[in-house]
Amino acid sequence: MSTIPTATISRLVTYLRILEQLESQGIKRTSSEHLAEEAQVSAFQVRKDLAYFGRFGTRGAGYTVPTLRRELRRILGLTRSWNVAIIGMGRLGQAIANYPNFDSYDFILKGLFDTDPEKIGQSISGLEVFHPEQLPRLVKEKGIDIGFITVSPEAAQIAADALVQAGIRGILNFAPAVINVPKEIHVEPVDFLAGLKRLSFYIQNPQLKEELA
Ligand code: NAD
Repeated sequence: MSTIPTATISRLVTYLRILEQLESQGIKRTSSEHLAEEAQVSAFQVRKDLAYFGRFGTRGAGYTVPTLRRELRRILGLTRSWNVAIIGMGRLGQAIANYPNFDSYDFILKGLFDTDPEKIGQSISGLEVFHPEQLPRLVKEKGIDIGFITVSPEAAQIAADALVQAGIRGILNFAPAVINVPKEIHVEPVDFLAGLKRLSFYIQNPQLKEELA
């Protein structure tokens, strides 16, 4: 398979959310036009995004909602659960750990880590907080795949190195810092301030909003 644009993967996540909504409403069929309208892209874009992965609909008849939903979950690697560790149990780390619906997305919280001696040994959301030097052992024992970095920007690289050395496969980086990792590890940055800055640009320049592709 050739490389897939990151924007396509983001849109697949949006299509999946729309399909899940349709399914919860008991709707059995949909079309690229409907998905496009809900996702605020063009129908051509929907068809192009899906075409990277095969042929799903029937010309003229559209898509079967449960089938396309199942296919998108398979493509996105969501037919299994993923075990997660959080590094940095400050305000953000604790808020994520205490989020009540976390597990319902098949991302299972398995480990909490912090360097602060006051936090080590505490129980948060039913899990004990460990020092990151325990990462290699716990990643192996608990089969942890993904690490969330919720430390200060200054500590983000240290946390990333510890996660990589322990054997995790992907990082969701909440710290506003670029981290360097080996190329086989995927880092997904999460930055609500960047989103706010984009919002500020579009509020000031509504005429520059991209037309639907
Ligand atoms: P905080 O100071 O409350 O918590 C940071 C925690 O990290 C502390 O408990 C500290 O002991 C721990 N820590 C420091 N070095 C560590 C290391 N090497 N290994 C493990 N733990 C370590 O900070 P916060 O308010 O929770 O914010 C955390 C990070 O999230 C910051 O980088 C902040 O900028 C960022 N943030 C991002 C978003 C977003 O949308 N992406 C939103 C809010 C905060």
